[in-house]
Amino acid sequence: MSQDTRSLARDLAAHVQWMALSGVDEIPPGLPWPGGAAAGEVPDGEGASAPAAVDAGDAGAPASGLVATDLGGLRSEIGDCKRCRLSAARTQLVFGSGNPDARIVFVGEGPGRDEDRQGLPFVGRAGELLTDIIQKGMKIDRSEVYICNVVKCRPPDNRNPEPEEVDACSPFLIRQIELVQPEVIVALGKFAAQTLLQTTTPITRLRGRWHEYRGVPLMPTFHPAHLLRNPAFKREVWEDIKQVMQRLGMSAA
Ligand code: SF4
Repeated sequence: MSQDTRSLARDLAAHVQWMALSGVDEIPPGLPWPGGAAAGEVPDGEGASAPAAVDAGDAGAPASGLVATDLGGLRSEIGDCKRCRLSAARTQLVFGSGNPDARIVFVGEGPGRDEDRQGLPFVGRAGELLTDIIQKGMKIDRSEVYICNVVKCRPPDNRNPEPEEVDACSPFLIRQIELVQPEVIVALGKFAAQTLLQTTTPITRLRGRWHEYRGVPLMPTFHPAHLLRNPAFKREVWEDIKQVMQRLGMSAA
């Protein structure tokens, strides 16, 4: 095997491994491969050929493809991630915070300016409102729940994350949820709800009803930032949160 072929094989293996980590278990025909060839075509080299499908891992392996067995290990495994272009403008990666054994995981869209600066999720004005919902509404300490986002790095100008950025980051969220094993997920806002549920249904129709994300009951509700702009929607959020509390056997009195 020539040096070029060994190098091509190494690149191909790394590419396939990352696709598997990202949850891809099949390569559609025509997908470009590193070096410009398409899946199903034979790249330049000594008879190398693209596999028809990617083995996403052994049976029983984590669905995320990540191997960390606790949240600290997962944070280390993610490292100084540059798997998508959101890494370019971030101050720091915002992994998530809270109780690793939480019964509830709150999932937002992505870090904003304050979160990017502090390295923690939901710390700005919207974060204060989320804290009030948890502490004054649910009557539990914020440290009892786990809070994270769909993407871990701040999108420039607070734009929505692009699909390829969500795809690159989703193994991290999947593994966070695999490790925390919550009884309930609360999706905060349209983007988180539509992304987790793989739907374009408006948040106004998603909220208030139970859905499921990878086997975990999921309640979509409005994002706290939306409530800051439209305080009248607090009543709907409280109705959604009461359903979560009811499901967990918590008193909403
Ligand atoms: S958004 Fe996610 S995939 Fe993209 S650089 Fe940040 S941690 Fe990595």
